[in-house]
Amino acid sequence: MSNTIQAIRGMNDILPDQAHLWEFFEETVRDWLHSYGYRNIRMPIVEQTALFKRAIGEVTDIVEKEMYTFIDALNGESLTLRPEGTAACVRAVIQHNLLYNGPQRLFYSGPMFRHERPQKGRYRQFHQVGVESLGYSGPDIDAEQIIMCARLWKKLGLQDVSLQINTLGSAGSRALHRTKLIQYFTAHENLLDEDARRRLHSNPLRILDSKNPAMQALIDAAPKLLDELDEASLKHFEGVQVLLRSADVPYEINTRLVRGLDYYNYTVFEWVTTRLGAQGTVCAGGRYDGLIEQIGGKPAPACGFAMGVERLLALMEESALSVPLKVPDAYLIHQGEAADKIALQVSEQLRDAGLHVVLHCGGGSFKSQMKKADANGAHYAIIIGDDEASASELSVKPLRELGEQARMGVSEAADMIKSKIDAKR
Ligand code: ATP
Ligand code: MG
Repeated sequence: MSNTIQAIRGMNDILPDQAHLWEFFEETVRDWLHSYGYRNIRMPIVEQTALFKRAIGEVTDIVEKEMYTFIDALNGESLTLRPEGTAACVRAVIQHNLLYNGPQRLFYSGPMFRHERPQKGRYRQFHQVGVESLGYSGPDIDAEQIIMCARLWKKLGLQDVSLQINTLGSAGSRALHRTKLIQYFTAHENLLDEDARRRLHSNPLRILDSKNPAMQALIDAAPKLLDELDEASLKHFEGVQVLLRSADVPYEINTRLVRGLDYYNYTVFEWVTTRLGAQGTVCAGGRYDGLIEQIGGKPAPACGFAMGVERLLALMEESALSVPLKVPDAYLIHQGEAADKIALQVSEQLRDAGLHVVLHCGGGSFKSQMKKADANGAHYAIIIGDDEASASELSVKPLRELGEQARMGVSEAADMIKSKIDAKR
């Protein structure tokens, strides 16, 4: 094994036995997003490094230490594998002037890349579903985004996911708070770790986001942004809460929730679970009214969130959700010269009639083909031997329930199998 090439650490293969859960998740999510009027957008995986620096912020974990950045050997440009989707989505919206047609509800999904220490729930290539509403300023859209998450958790059968919200206020409120934080942390500079000391003047709010256990008491006692909020900030925050209460979505206000990215203002939220250990945040987002202008667009408000797909799937498995396996309707067995000649064509006819069919390939005895049909999980075996071939018929044998083998024509077989399987659903 030593000289075989392996996948890169922290980047996982998703094998067929797991992939069916992914497919179930993706189908459920797409249907759920369409039910709220969100439309799909697809951006490239690689962008100019400057986009992420400008959007996410220079003094953040992502930009400081987690990005996969490289120089394009052909033209010397600095490029980065996307660590998140919002920056590219907003770039695309600006570049194609999408807001010209009014506010947009958009979603995307796919792999993101961060150079972190791989562990359970934390990978170097991971997947997000991102949801962005651009051009909306009121608390109604913030609340809708949160409420729609609650619906998805229900659809996915997730247990034990709870909501934390906070407000980061307006730029003015944050400036006041920032001054007080710098004063407070400067007074306790001996208790700060290296990261915090470095951020003290560049981004003191981010010190509150520190995961260092040794600093938790200090952080707990730090000045609260909530005490500096201006009237507009309070009104927006209250507006979100009123809507959450009227939708019966329970929440907890967590004043320490500041989020890992710089671009948020007003509402921020996280959905967390206690069932996944340290990597308990399955979905996170909030409002980012300044970002569009910050990366060169005409100022417009926006809010959005991203779900961590691996963490949600782990939680689905943890909740022992049973996802029905997708099995073929029929497995087509054929033997003899005449049968072999028509088998491929018959399998196409059955698919034309709407069946999912696996055509046996590779020959073998009737018995060994039958074994393959059984192992494959298909509902029916369809058999073409010399007799069937000369009569232009098929033999159909149920594999998942008792029942006799019967002879019939191709379209009759397709109709019979479809109606039996539909009746079982
Ligand atoms: P964390 O605090 O766990 O590092 P974050 O604040 O960096 O998360 P976001 O940038 O808000 O995460 O990304 C949204 C979601 O994407 C997270 O809540 C999480 O579910 C998921 N996520 C983020 N980083 C990873 C990763 N390295 N591996 C797997 N999932 C991740
Ligand atoms: Mg992170």
